[in-house]
Parts: sequence; C-alpha cells; structure tokens
Amino acid sequence: MLEIELVACLSDNYAYLLHDLATGATGVVDPSEPEPVRHALSAHGWRLTHIFNTHHHFDHTGGNLELKDEFNATIIGPGADAERIPGIDVAYGEGEHFEFGAQDVQVFDIPGHTKGHIAFYFQKAKAVFTGDTLFALGCGRMFEGTPPVMFASLSKLAALPGDTRIYCGHEYTQSNGRFALHVDPQNKALITRMADVDALRAKGLPTIPSTIDLERATNPFLLARSAEEFGSRRAAKDGFKG
Ligand code: ZN
Ligand code: FE
Repeated sequence: MLEIELVACLSDNYAYLLHDLATGATGVVDPSEPEPVRHALSAHGWRLTHIFNTHHHFDHTGGNLELKDEFNATIIGPGADAERIPGIDVAYGEGEHFEFGAQDVQVFDIPGHTKGHIAFYFQKAKAVFTGDTLFALGCGRMFEGTPPVMFASLSKLAALPGDTRIYCGHEYTQSNGRFALHVDPQNKALITRMADVDALRAKGLPTIPSTIDLERATNPFLLARSAEEFGSRRAAKDGFKG
C-alpha cells in the first residue's frame, strides 16, 4: 500500500508525500519549498527518505537541498538533466526501474517542457507523477521541445491503463478547462467534468488526482489527432484569454 498526500506549495504548485506502509519509506515528489513538506511530514510522524524530481525548474526542486540536509534523503531525478537538479544522487531515464520501499517505480522520459523531464509510474499503486508535462485538462509549455516531442511524451502517458491516477505539478485545471471548452464545446464528458471542477474550486479544494481515462476523454491536447494539431492548439492556448 502506498499513501499519497497532496502538499500545496507556493501559489499553485503541488508536491506529493508518498508513504510506503510496508517499509516506512517516505518520499516527496517535486518539493517546491521545504516548509509545507516539513509540516506535512511531522503531522504524520513520517521521516523523509527520498526526494523525487520530475524536472529541474525551481518550483519543483526549491526544497531539495534543505530537505536533503535535514533528513539525509536520497534525491532521484532525470538522467538527461542531472546537472541541473540540485543535490541529485541517482539519475534515471526511459524504461529504468527502481525500488522505493516495496514499490516498483518505472521511469519514462517525457521531454518537451524541459529537455530532461521524467514521469514516475507506480504500477501497483496505479499512480503516475507527471510534473509539468501532463496537467489535468492541459499540458505544460514547450520551453525546451517541439510539438512532435511534446506530443510523443503526452501520447506515452495516455497509453497507461485508464484507471491510473494522475498527480501533476500545478492546480491549473479550471483555467485549462476554459480553453478545453473553447476548443471542444460539444464534449459532454468535458462539460460534466468542468462542472465538477468549478464546484471543487469554489470550495477551495484540489482537482487532483485526475485519471488517464478522464484525460483521454476531455483533455484537448490528448484529443489532438496529430502532432501538428497538437502544436496549433498549444500555440492557441498561449494567446487564449478565457
Ligand atoms: Zn516546470
Ligand atoms: Fe512548474
């Protein structure tokens, strides 16, 4: 069993605490800043053993060094960007597996947002951590990639089992959804989902996790039929004022 707890950081980031019940191994995915992570750990009485980074951006690695110092945690990140991950100990890339407690973790290379962006896939727990590549109802900006590269990364994630839960790096779902409705106004699954999202946000609640099934049915970037269509949607979103 893997417990997953969302930790709100900065203005709209999410870090995630992972606790493997069998062994007590405890990780954090993308600690933007140390304090909220420390607070969530002590509320549970958990001791941090691992730090997972999906990519190098500061809002995903800002807590690395302080937390590593404090807990002597092992930092795991993308091999293709190891030199840009503060304090990295172990680097992984496409198809590699490692053990976290009793969990087998599979790594996918999902470049496009950054050159070395990875996803962590926990098959047994049915969970994937997608950083700033796949968001609920959206996807990240292509800072270091082209539409074919980013579209291939998203397609790789979309091929995971439909009941896999998606834990992404930001709470962008409501604004993503406005663009999604603009692209796909007749999509019934999307209309229903947006009503749920609006209700959650009105109460200040997170919209995460999503699932692969839900994204396949409603995310305009997964619904694009080609890299070209993906690229024009991604460009349109940058200029979209919902
Ligand atoms: Zn980023
Ligand atoms: Fe980010």
